Amino acid sequence: MRFDVFTLFPEVFYPYLDLSILARARQRGLAEVHVHNIRDWATDKHHVVDDEPYGGGGGMVMKPEPIFAAVEGVLGRPPAAPVILLTPQGRPFSHAVAAELAQYPHLALLCGRYEGVDERVRQHLVSDEISIGDYVLTGGELAALVVLDAVVRLLPGVLGDPDAPHKDSHAMGLLEYPHYTRPAVFRGWEVPAVLRSGDHGRIARWRREQALRRTWERRPDLLARADLTAEERALIARWEAEAR
Ligand code: SAM
Repeated sequence: MRFDVFTLFPEVFYPYLDLSILARARQRGLAEVHVHNIRDWATDKHHVVDDEPYGGGGGMVMKPEPIFAAVEGVLGRPPAAPVILLTPQGRPFSHAVAAELAQYPHLALLCGRYEGVDERVRQHLVSDEISIGDYVLTGGELAALVVLDAVVRLLPGVLGDPDAPHKDSHAMGLLEYPHYTRPAVFRGWEVPAVLRSGDHGRIARWRREQALRRTWERRPDLLARADLTAEERALIARWEAEAR
C-alpha cells in the first residue's frame, strides 16, 4: 500500500516511520510512504504557504495554491488516490475506519497547520476528512501518523501473528483481555492460575470473559454493537444486577 503525505513539517515523520513494525513493513515493501513538503510547491521568492484570513480574526490560513500544486504534482489532476484531510471537523477515526482505509492500494494524507486550510481545498481537492478525537492539535502531522500506523498494522503480513489485528481491542467490538508475562509472581502479585494451567479451552473462556468484563466496566457503549451470545448477554445482565 502506498501513502503520500503532504505537510509543512516532513521531519516529523521519519523518526517514527523508521522504527519497529512500520520500518519493517516499509523494508518488506508492504507499505510505501512518501512525505512531501508543501512549501516546495510555493512559487514565490519566500515560499509563502499561509496568509491572513479574509474577514479578519486572528491566525493564519494555509493558502490553496501550494496545496493544489503539491497534491496534483504528485498524484495528477484529478488525484489518482483518495485525499484525506486531517481535521478536528472530520469523521471520527476508529478501527472500522482504519479497516476501510486498509482496503485502498493508495492514499494521500493532507496535514493542516495554523487555522487550517483554505476552504476551497476541502471543497475541491479533498475526498475524505478524518478527526482523531474531539480536541485540537497544533498540526495534522500526529493525526496522519495515527492513521498511518493504525492502517499499516492491518495490512496482511505486517504483524508476525496474522490473527493479532483481529484480537486487539476494538477489532472484535470489545476491549481486549489483560496480558501477563514472566515472572509468575512479581512483588507478591500473582499471574492468574488459569493462564499457567496449559488448558487452552479454559484460557480462551477466561480471556473472553475478561474482555467482556473490561468492556462492560470501561466502555459499556461498545456492548450494544458487539456480537455476543445469549449466554454472554445473560452474564452481563447478572453483573448489572449485582452492581445495583
Ligand atoms: N481552526 C481549526 C478548527 O477549529 O477546526 C483547527 C486548526 S488546528 C490548530 C491545525 C491543524 O491541526 C488542522 O488543520 C488539522 O490538520 C490538525 N488537527 C488538529 N486537531 C486535529 C484532530 N483532532 N484530528 C485531526 N487533525 C487535527
